[in-house]
Amino acid sequence: MTDLFALTGKTAIVTGGAQGIGEAIVLGLRDAGARVFICDINPEVGEASAERHGVEFVAADVTDPATVEAAFDHVVRSAGSIDVAVNNAGIVHNHPSEDLSTEDWRRVMSVNLDGVFYSCRAAGRRMLEQGSGSIINTGSMSGHIANRPQPQSAYNAAKAGVIHLTKSLAGEWAARGVRVNSVSPGYVGTELTKRGLSNEEWRRAWLDGTPMNRVAEPGEIAPAVVFLASDASSYCTGTDLVVDGGYTVW
Ligand code: NAD
Repeated sequence: MTDLFALTGKTAIVTGGAQGIGEAIVLGLRDAGARVFICDINPEVGEASAERHGVEFVAADVTDPATVEAAFDHVVRSAGSIDVAVNNAGIVHNHPSEDLSTEDWRRVMSVNLDGVFYSCRAAGRRMLEQGSGSIINTGSMSGHIANRPQPQSAYNAAKAGVIHLTKSLAGEWAARGVRVNSVSPGYVGTELTKRGLSNEEWRRAWLDGTPMNRVAEPGEIAPAVVFLASDASSYCTGTDLVVDGGYTVW
């Protein structure tokens, strides 16, 4: 049975793979046997992380489609194919909506939704040509619920968009061998949540809202991605796998 989860001989790219959840996904895919490329806007952290983990690094800013296409070209040129694309880069911005600037709205939408589309499109173009591939987008429980107490309408809207984009592409590409799914984490201890977790009011609300009463380790999200990357999920497409310690049941 465990053979179904193996990624031996496969090539994978992980955007936002330099740290946090993306880094844990890189380790998961690597340990399942894939050749992995970290793709990140931050070359310092990304290259150090790649060296530490015995994987490769390629730079891209997911908001710039030309750099995304160049990164996917680099992977295909180096490895001959691209079998798994994890579109995970994301940012958060907490601000009351009535005062949210147009620039901050656009910045969040640009990384968290436009960037996921550009990465899906780059992966889809190459995978459809080879007739196979698995795309996994990082959504969030915030695509299903509105978080509290922190205001983050752009983030929540972008993540709902990611989940529906995933379904839309899954429908378009299923008959041509390309599966598209998403994984939606609850609160995970990373740079992204550091500020929130150091705010006692927010931390209390986050833990009280989570039936398991704790945040996840990044390594608890990675196995869900390995499942969706591998043949273990051969009949899954358009699905959103929520990994949230139960947050969305209340
Ligand atoms: P993180 O801040 O630790 O890591 C994000 C990574 O994305 C960094 O390496 C950063 O350099 C990279 N990145 C940012 N902008 C980029 C761009 N324009 N182009 C390429 N790379 C870029 O955050 P994380 O917590 O690991 O989050 C990873 C993903 O998981 C995000 O999509 C986030 O929304 C999602 N998520 C996180 C949580 C959580 O609680 N941490 C919960 C649900 C979903």
